[in-house]
Order: sequence, then C-alpha cells, then structure tokens
Amino acid sequence: MDGLDAGPGFDELFGVPPVVFAEAPGRINLLGEHTDYNGGLALPSPLGLWTRVELRPMPGGQVRAFSTLAGGPVEGALDEPRRRGDWLDYVLGAALVLRKAGHRVGGFAVRIASEVPPGSGLSSSASLLVALLRALRTAYGLPLSDLELAERAQQAEVEFVGAPVGLMDHLVISLGRPGEALLLDLGARRFEAVPLPPGGEMAVLDSGLRHHHADGASYAARRAECERAAALLGVPCLGVLGEGDLPRLSALPPELARRARHVITEDERVLAAVRALRAGHWSALGALLVQGHVSLRDDFAVSLPEIDLLVEMACAEADVLGARLCGGGFGGAVVVATKAGQARQVAEQVVGRYRQSTGRPGAVLWPPGG
Ligand code: ADP
Ligand code: MG
Repeated sequence: MDGLDAGPGFDELFGVPPVVFAEAPGRINLLGEHTDYNGGLALPSPLGLWTRVELRPMPGGQVRAFSTLAGGPVEGALDEPRRRGDWLDYVLGAALVLRKAGHRVGGFAVRIASEVPPGSGLSSSASLLVALLRALRTAYGLPLSDLELAERAQQAEVEFVGAPVGLMDHLVISLGRPGEALLLDLGARRFEAVPLPPGGEMAVLDSGLRHHHADGASYAARRAECERAAALLGVPCLGVLGEGDLPRLSALPPELARRARHVITEDERVLAAVRALRAGHWSALGALLVQGHVSLRDDFAVSLPEIDLLVEMACAEADVLGARLCGGGFGGAVVVATKAGQARQVAEQVVGRYRQSTGRPGAVLWPPGG
C-alpha cells in the first residue's frame, strides 16, 4: 500500500518536529450491519491498514492539519469552531469533544498519513478519529480509557461532523486486537473477543463506488426508518427484538417491516457466526455472509447492482465460502471469506473480472499484495 510515506514530512510542513505519534487501524465487519445504532449485535475485526498521526501542541487555539490523502495544510480555530463540511471537521471535532468533556486541549499541528481508503466501508473516519484522539491523549496526558476514547470518537462524528453513525467502528478500532473479531452488543455495551480460527481468511474488494456518511442522506434515512419502526412497535430500539417477534412486523408498513426484519435476522446471524468461528467452521460463516448480503439487498435496500454483481462473482469462485457488502452501503467494499491461503489470489481474479464487466475501478483492499 502507498500512502504512509507520501507527501512532505512534519518538519517540512510545520518547521518543527512532532512530539507525539499515534496510529489506529481500519476495520472489516464480518457480520452485523446497520445494527449498531439499533442497539443490536455486530462482529467487526481490526484490519492491518493504518492511519498514522504525528502531532505537536502549539501555542494558541489554532489547528493546522495536513493529510496525505486530503492535502493541506488547512487551518481551523478551536475557540470559534464552525462546521466546514470537509475533512478538517474530523480533526477539530476530535479536539472539541475532549474540551466539551472538560479536558484541557489547545491548538496543535498534525500530519495524518493513511492507507485506509475513505468511503470504502473500512471505516477510515473512525480510524482517523481514534488515531487523532490517541495522539491528543498522549500529547495532553489525558486520563481517557480506550472505551471512553471510542465514545468520544463517535461523539465527534455525530455532533461535529454531522454523520449519525453508530459506535461499532470506534469500539472495534479502539478495543479490538489483530487476529480477533469483537462481538459487540451495542444495547448492553458489552463486548467479547472471538479469535479468528485457522482454516479460512478474509479478503476485501473495493467496488470503486464511493459513499460519504457525512452527507449520506440515505444512511440517515435508514436510521430514521428504524427509529420509526421501533416507535410503531412500542420498543426503545429494534435491537431488543428477537426472532420470536418477527410475526409482529406484519403490523408495520411493508417497507418498515423489511427494515426491521433485517435488524432482527442480522442479530441472529451474528450469533450464528460467533458459533461458527468458535467451532472453526469457516464454511458456515461463509453461508451466513451470503444470507447477510441478501438481507442487506432485499430487506434493508442499501446495496447497488454493481455490489450485487461483485458478491455474485466472488461466490462463483471455488475457493470462496461466502461474500457480502461491508459497511453502510450505497457503495464501498465487499468482504469475502475464502479457504486459507487463497484470499489474495481469489480476490485478484474476482476484481479483474469485475473491472472487465463493469468498467469500474475495482481493487483488492485486503490482503495486501506480495
Ligand atoms: P468510511 O469511514 O467508511 O471510510 P466515511 O464517509 O464515514 O467513510 O468517512 C470518510 C471521510 O473521512 C472522508 O471523506 C474524509 O472527510 C475523512 N477522512 C478519512 N480518512 C482521512 C484521512 N486520512 N485524511 C483526511 N480525511 C480523512
Ligand atoms: Mg465512516
């Protein structure tokens, strides 16, 4: 992957050396999509692609930021913050939520280098925020647990950037460990490590179609539909419902019933996926991925024809156990479960065919090439 060494260094940008270095990974989500803001279950895992942050506190309340992916340096003021509608909002937001929580955070210069592609469903936004918050925690010696840090990262994204995202990405990026998935119960705020067993591997394929949660009317619309469904059913959130409640959905308008059915069945798939991983049954996990995709496509309506095609092409490969859309949808990436040792090769084959048939710039995002 390129990206981490691209562009000017910190000293060159700001005329002084950095004093703090921090990093955070991207993530994939094995299963449990659009469940986090419904108080449901999810099963994400950190990915070995990184956002790296070098930072130096500066006198005054100015923030100066450079990103290898977004350019700069650009400047913003912590004392008179206003939403700009661009990537600097994430940087200002990270500092502002800390201030709001009573921490003393001043101006700073920051250089961000990232290999997590934005808008691909690998959660570049949470990766960026967790890396920034880790750097600020060290730079200002803040008493902030990893759990609180995840909560602040989500708060920055919701309150300052204006993207109504759930807590899943921030939790797994702040608390997860490589080689493990994290079973998250977003309703109970409980989490549990689930080691990835031998016998299988994950690949991530980029569809070449981008989404932006910060201006994602569609993501917000799905969230609002879930809230309406929960209100009509008289429950605080859809995550409290189980399979036994499926018959109740017939009381809802058909579209809302489909949204609610996705959330309920997705929770069951997450639990089944945990059982499959614990038993080392990668093929069972693969089958659950396919069921998850069908639910995202038909019930939650967040897929696109190109994404469906990419999933189909992946599943046609002998060494593929299953595949599905990963992330919020309306573009982004597809996660694929393959037999052990096959992920890179299969991913390249599938992406090659996808490019040929759609003309889209598909790419293999994971695993990294030789
Ligand atoms: P995702 O989190 O799935 O990648 P989002 O739409 O939630 O997609 O977040 C992408 C946005 O996050 C980008 O448009 C940009 O504003 C910001 N972002 C992410 N990574 C970086 C980075 N390395 N440098 C600057 N901005 C970034
Ligand atoms: Mg995001």
